[in-house]
Amino acid sequence: MKKKEFAVIGLGRFGGSVCRTLSEQGMEVLAIDVDEEKVNEYASIASQAVVADSTDENVLKSLGIRNFDHVIVAIGDNIQASILTTLILKELGVEKITVKATNDYHEKVLKKIGADHIVHPERDMGERIANNMISNNVLDYLELSDRHSIVEIVANERLHGHSLLELDIRAKYGINIVAIKRNNDIIVSPLASEVIYAGDILIVIGADQDIDRFESEVV
Ligand code: ATP
Ligand code: ATP
Ligand code: CA
Repeated sequence: MKKKEFAVIGLGRFGGSVCRTLSEQGMEVLAIDVDEEKVNEYASIASQAVVADSTDENVLKSLGIRNFDHVIVAIGDNIQASILTTLILKELGVEKITVKATNDYHEKVLKKIGADHIVHPERDMGERIANNMISNNVLDYLELSDRHSIVEIVANERLHGHSLLELDIRAKYGINIVAIKRNNDIIVSPLASEVIYAGDILIVIGADQDIDRFESEVV
């Protein structure tokens, strides 16, 4: 299989982290920034790093940006540059474009001009951390959609010694336990006969309201 080729435009904290992680995972990454210092910083990390202004269509053309599988626009504060860059990438026919949005208006415009995927790292991380802080039982939280999540919940005494069948979790709460972490073991796709112990970490998938109900009634 051909290695996937990525281009990351904007090497701030977010773009820099994306670039570093893709590179660590062995991906081909072209790192782009107007700031020469940033480019120098990533020269030894990315496959290639260039100083360029992404709002200049000819510059993007000459970099062959159209041939990349996935381009990430990580320009934050300069919303105008972010939007213009996205528009040019779209017009050049880039296959997949992910853009970091700074606020809701920015996001709206990006959607309109056809960004494939919009991320909002500050807002999303804030929500995630807040959700983790509210509940003592919830260890981690992954939002699947506006209304669905995967959540790690610690089992308490009320669940202790009962099987999934006895607790009848899916039937009663509409949620599924996809895995159970116990000490250093992980039981993936547990059977109905699996018994839960206090302290087990339950990895639960479902609608947020169903997960909340399970959490408040049972855990
Ligand atoms: P973060 O929060 O991820 O650190 P940020 O949201 O504060 O970043 P900026 O610092 O404004 O975003 O931008 C990220 C990077 O994008 C900067 O290094 C900046 O030099 C670069 N950048 C801004 N405009 C352009 C452009 N037109 N072309 C290429 N790079 C650009
Ligand atoms: P269902 O009627 O929900 O389709 P089933 O016929 O597949 O269940 P079992 O797999 O034997 O039957 O499970 C019986 C009951 O045990 C389920 O209805 C559910 O309430 C509970 N259960 C089993 N496995 C899980 C799981 N992984 N997560 C949550 N509940 C489970
Ligand atoms: Ca910022």
